[in-house]
Amino acid sequence: MLHIIDAFSRIGEENAFAVLARATELQRQGKDIINLGIGQPDFRTPENIVEAAIKALRDGHHGYTPATGILPLREAVSADLKKRFNVEVSPELVMIVPGGKVTMFMAILMFGEPGAEILYPDPGFPIYRSMIEFTGAKAVPVPIREENGFAFSAEETLALITPKTRLLIINSPANPTGGVTPKSEIDKLVKGLERFPDVAIMSDEIYAQMTYDGEVHQTLLAYHEIRDRLILLDGWSKTYAMTGWRMGYSVWPKPLYDAARKLAVNSFSCVNASAQYAGLEALTGPQDAVHAMVAEFDRRRKVVVEGLNRLPNVSAATPKGAFYAFPNISKTGWRAKPLASALLEEAGVATIGGPDFGVHGEGYIRLSYANSTENILRALERIEKFLVERSQQK
Ligand code: PLP
Repeated sequence: MLHIIDAFSRIGEENAFAVLARATELQRQGKDIINLGIGQPDFRTPENIVEAAIKALRDGHHGYTPATGILPLREAVSADLKKRFNVEVSPELVMIVPGGKVTMFMAILMFGEPGAEILYPDPGFPIYRSMIEFTGAKAVPVPIREENGFAFSAEETLALITPKTRLLIINSPANPTGGVTPKSEIDKLVKGLERFPDVAIMSDEIYAQMTYDGEVHQTLLAYHEIRDRLILLDGWSKTYAMTGWRMGYSVWPKPLYDAARKLAVNSFSCVNASAQYAGLEALTGPQDAVHAMVAEFDRRRKVVVEGLNRLPNVSAATPKGAFYAFPNISKTGWRAKPLASALLEEAGVATIGGPDFGVHGEGYIRLSYANSTENILRALERIEKFLVERSQQK
């Protein structure tokens, strides 16, 4: 009898991967499936980045690198943060990690234990809650509301802080809603956090470069008053269409950096050396591909939102960031998960039910518009046909 620790009875996962597996299985059976479930750009990694990795391999970068990442890359991250946000970040506080997820894994491990409380957005990226519960800490959801434009409310967030709160996780632009929290609200949050100097903050800014309609992303790095307790999560996956490369970075406050380095040494040792050179080219090379990709997402965003709002009993807020739409389906008479499942099995469209992102996701489904406009239009047609036929059967 093997005695795996109890914590594994509490760990969760990402249902997006289960939906992907089911969609792939249906495709294997010959069904025509349009996948709007998965959260990754449908573009290839730009060629100059791929070439940089090949060159690194040819140049003999085959060994371990420092656990925290190669210095030129950490310097490039600092320079990129300076260029994008005009903030000073020492390369000594930057850590290269294998994907954005690893920063949240480390941060939650550092602060989670029985008796502790960690606040996280709901609906939000499912791994936050999963990891919090794995550590034995209490996962405290901060509701993210449609009537608030899917931005978080500073007041509501601050009201949930107790003497047991160790870590606050925020995410803007947000998955799964596409919500972007305005600067005024973030100002309020930071001001309020002055009253809670023992609470660390992890800001997941992995979609920072994907905002629309002139919306400006407000980085938490800009607030000096919290820099000594702020962890920034970012990476290459979304911005440079590099989800499979496993390239992310964190900025740590000085007192936490060594703990993060030790977690790296105790687990992955360092990130794949050639991928780090690819990451360096991504940050220092031309950015045209990023701008073109975001412009394309913007075009599709309009198609998705318009199409969703034409569906019977469906309404969709206009997402201001990321590449997801989060339509409200509560008036269709369906609950979200059965609807997502029926859309996949019967209409051949993969989406994710809102509750897979938390209890406050009921009444919504997530559609990723990281797919061609043609496929998006076909998917919308299929969803419409499905909803109309099913309402006639009722
Ligand atoms: N944070 C958010 C909000 C995400 O949506 C994702 C990926 O979907 C990640 C982090 C993780 O990114 P990565 O694939 O680099 O681990």
